[in-house]
Amino acid sequence: MKYVSTRGEAPVLGFDDVLLAGLARDGGLYVPESWPELSPSEVADLSGRPYAEVATLVMAPFLGGGIDEEMVAGIVAEAYARFRHPAVVPLRQVGDNEWVLELFHGPTLAFKDVALQVLGRLFDAELTRRSERLTILGATSGDTGPAAIEACRDRHTLDVFILHPAGRISEVQRRQMTTVASDNVHNLAVEGTFDDCQDLVKAIFGDLALRERLRLSAVNSINWARVLPQVVYYLAAAVALGGPSRPVSFSVPTGNFGNALAGWVARQMGAPISRLVVASNRNDIATRFLTTGVMELQQVHPTTSPAMDIQVSSNLERLLFELLDRHAGDVAHLMAEFGTTGRMEVPLERLAPLGDLFDTTRVDDETVARAMGELYAASGHLVDPHTAVGLTAGRTCRRDPTVPLVAMATAHPAKFPDTVEAATGVRPELPDHLADLYDRPERCTTLPCDLAAVRDYVVSNARAAGHTG
Ligand SMILES: *Cc1c(COP(=O)(O)O)cnc(C)c1O
Repeated sequence: MKYVSTRGEAPVLGFDDVLLAGLARDGGLYVPESWPELSPSEVADLSGRPYAEVATLVMAPFLGGGIDEEMVAGIVAEAYARFRHPAVVPLRQVGDNEWVLELFHGPTLAFKDVALQVLGRLFDAELTRRSERLTILGATSGDTGPAAIEACRDRHTLDVFILHPAGRISEVQRRQMTTVASDNVHNLAVEGTFDDCQDLVKAIFGDLALRERLRLSAVNSINWARVLPQVVYYLAAAVALGGPSRPVSFSVPTGNFGNALAGWVARQMGAPISRLVVASNRNDIATRFLTTGVMELQQVHPTTSPAMDIQVSSNLERLLFELLDRHAGDVAHLMAEFGTTGRMEVPLERLAPLGDLFDTTRVDDETVARAMGELYAASGHLVDPHTAVGLTAGRTCRRDPTVPLVAMATAHPAKFPDTVEAATGVRPELPDHLADLYDRPERCTTLPCDLAAVRDYVVSNARAAGHTG
């Protein structure tokens, strides 16, 4: 498979190069040249297989370069062996024809592990093959940092630097990062806000000479190889609930739109998905765009579902590319306008084809808390606030009760113990493998909110800096 940039000015690359490049050189996002399709019998054939096998089959048509099906089979088997449930992503019934897909059984209890456990191993395999090293740099307000660190730890081809705002993330999340005892993991507590951390990361990425020298890369969902493993669970859940002959609807708590985009891709490939509900919290750039055609920056409002507190849903660009019939010039033009003015608009008729798939809605914090309390009272199930956003939105938008509704459970309730306890009266417990989290020693470097200080720290600790070739 070859990949093209949504903005049309970057080289066409194979899967291995797309993996290492992340963002395309023209600022666009890489997408496959065409969408592979599975026939109904191929979809049916996914049924009853172990999850890692389903993952290999679904990912196979997207691979290429040095990364082939056999390599991926080994990588996904190893990655998903670390999940603490034999089904990897089990479905749990929570109501009448209503299910949650538990994506949080990975090492850091967040759905990001599903993709990042694969991504870290893909990076390592490809870099080993090329005898190269990369430096991973990112900022976190909570969920991405632990999952990125866990994916990259102990890999001699990678050094990972994660900035977090000192004293401003939850103790569970901080400890999940700082208790990782691995020489290639660097936790930087910055004396500032999350926005300050993001600005520092952007400034370092913006220094192109430094970026080249450190071989800087990111592990967010601008990377196609991070979206791809998420396509798998849509197909796996659909066949588990009777697909391909029986349609299923999904509801997705949305931030960067990576997860929802993966659902769109799954349907493109032939997954029997009748509706895909895009659920926002108060930060609703994605749902506003999908209903009005206007993409507009607004201030970020903190909510009880912080992993969705974002300003821009980057993966909308991949959908936009399809809506504009893959005219990369038009995408480049609109995104440039968005970049300079914070606003761009697509004529509503362009969005019409999405009407037969997407529903959108926004859920506020009070409704989320009420939904968590009601679900617990009715069924004894605890869900985290992100999952509650999706479940509530799925119920609100539900059209046909005979179609199973699957809400994506994107975090373990124990990652947000205070919010869960306030809504239900029950404090969720950490799973066994993290039970001693509060006793483990922490490793972290505190730095002032200063570009030179952070840059110097990264330069002197990134091994790639000594290997410019
Ligand atoms: C990242 C995240 C989301 C949002 O997913 P996107 O793919 O960015 O839309 C939702 N819930 C949780 C718990 C997350 O960590």
